[in-house]
Amino acid sequence: MAGNPRNGRPYRRLVAAVKALGDPCARCGHNIDPTLDARHPLSFTLDHVVPLSRGGNLLDPANARSMHRRCNSQRGNRVGPQPLKTTRRW
Ligand SMILES: [Zn+2]
Repeated sequence: MAGNPRNGRPYRRLVAAVKALGDPCARCGHNIDPTLDARHPLSFTLDHVVPLSRGGNLLDPANARSMHRRCNSQRGNRVGPQPLKTTRRW
């Protein structure tokens, strides 16, 4: 996966910087425990105010904020109108 900017040093530096701010979750407003394992649903994740899919800047600190992993994934699943549920397996 060469070329994935999320694997780059600037991105990791941004993640560390936002994490160090100790801001509460941008979605639910609760504090984030920075010591939690990355697989923990309440661990820190970096969220982009303007999603990358809409032209948001991956590395702009002004576009980055703290969010729980769980909250981030819930938000991501709700972008745009939800299509009708289907039973079809993809
Ligand atoms: Zn949250």
